[in-house]
Formats: sequence, structure tokens, C-alpha cells
Amino acid sequence: MTDANPDPVAELVALGLERREARWLVEEFYPGEDPDARPALLAAARRRLAGEPLQYVIGHWPFRGLDLDVDPRVLIPRPETEGLVDVALGELARVDVAAPLVLDLGCGSGAIGLALLDELRQRGVAATLVAIDESTDALAVARANARKHHLHAVSFLQSNWFDALDASLAGRFDLIVSNPPYVGEQEFATLDPVLRHEPLGALVSPSAHGVEGLGDLAVILSRALDWLAPGGSLVVEHGDRQRTTLLAIAGERGWTDAQDHDDLSGRARVLVARRPR
Ligand code: GLN
Repeated sequence: MTDANPDPVAELVALGLERREARWLVEEFYPGEDPDARPALLAAARRRLAGEPLQYVIGHWPFRGLDLDVDPRVLIPRPETEGLVDVALGELARVDVAAPLVLDLGCGSGAIGLALLDELRQRGVAATLVAIDESTDALAVARANARKHHLHAVSFLQSNWFDALDASLAGRFDLIVSNPPYVGEQEFATLDPVLRHEPLGALVSPSAHGVEGLGDLAVILSRALDWLAPGGSLVVEHGDRQRTTLLAIAGERGWTDAQDHDDLSGRARVLVARRPR
């Protein structure tokens, strides 16, 4: 970027960035190597070098077919969560409702619910989404993402799980999806410190049923039945040591057809359970 060192990627690498990330930042912040953009490029490089996740520095990240705005108000969408969307689409195809009503619990950036709306729209299915989050900050990001992708059949609600949902919606949802917090407090302390840049409330959950991180999933499993239509499905992401207990809880609470799916790296990740017809 200086006359002595005209290659901006090489300059960022010299500052300590990995080449691949340096290339991404140059593409994002230094298009056409416009000299006016140099301060923005250097500021982005400094944020990354200080340990901020690349996704927040870039400010948007792909999830399924969407390019989602992301910042520290929301969890960064993960590739393993993309598989949850496939499972959810399969469940909706099975119930075969013309205009399904979908609930995304703890929507964060909106990734799961908005990807579903977008992909259903491409298949000619006019779904309606209710997206809930406890965090008004997260809801602001999700709203912006809905606007960005022209997804209008969605209403946003600030709520601790089902607490603020209108009672008239009980028994109405064809599908409930969620990627709730499920990391245990002790486990969190052992994980990559880069996770500390993300909202703690989106990651960490108390213990329940003697299993670390299961608290919010247990609440969802005990309450979601009331909000599903008969035959409707719950599809939730969970941690890789939670499968056995979740399947047991689902059996005890009156769910039917409970199954659990692995993610792409072979870890137990997505629980599906249905309200009996
Ligand atoms: N899979 C995430 C992680 O450990 C956890 C997401 C979550 O708690 N919902 O990075």
C-alpha cells in the first residue's frame, strides 16, 4: 500500500494476518485499491489482529443462500446450523401445509427463520415467520436482515422463550425451530476464547437433568408442545453430549417420533420431535 510495498495483502500478512484472511479484508475494504479506503482497511486489520472474529470485522457472513449482517449483538451463524435448515424443510414437506406458520425461538441474526422463509419462497410456499429473541439488540439485527432480503412475512417479538407470545397462537405453529444456548458454564471456560466476543446469553445455558448446558433446551422441550399444531414439528440444535437425555425427555413429555441427527462432522446436533396428531 506504500510505494515500497504495493501489495496490500502482503502488507497485512507482514502485520501478522493469515494470508487468506488478509485477502478477504482487502477484497472487502480495499476494492480497486482506492487510496481513500486505506484507513478502513487498516482499521479492520487492527480489529482482527486484536482478536475480534473475522465475521464481525467484515460485518456480514453467508448462511445458506443469505448474506446476513452480523455484529457483536448476535451469534455468528455456524455452518453446522445450516444442516438444521435441511431437517426443518423436510419436516415442513412432511406436514404439507399450504401456508405454514413457523416460530424461530432465539432468532439472533435471523439466520434459521429467514433462511427457511427464503427457501420456501423459492419453492412457491408462502410461509409466515414469528421470530423471538430476548435481546432487543439481536432483534434489530434480525429485522435489518429481513429487510435486506425482502422477507416481509415475519413479525419480531421480544420475549423470554414463549412468555410474550399471544395466547391465540397456542396450537397454531406447524414448525418451531431453535438454536438456543446450550454450552455449559464449565465447558465454556475450556473453549476457544474467540467465543468471548459473542453474546454470552446466546451460548451459555445452566445445567438441567444433570447435564451441562441443557437448561434452555429443557424449557423448550417442556413448553413447545402447547404451541405446535397437532402433527407439527420441533427442530432444535444441541450439544454433542446432550442427545441421550434430550431423547429421554422427549419421550417423557409426550412427544412422538423423536429422532436425532448428526452434523457434517459426525457430532450429535439436531433433535426432531413431533406433537402427536
Ligand atoms: N455451536 C456453538 C459453539 O459452540 C454453540 C451454539 C449455541 O450454544 N447455540 O460454537
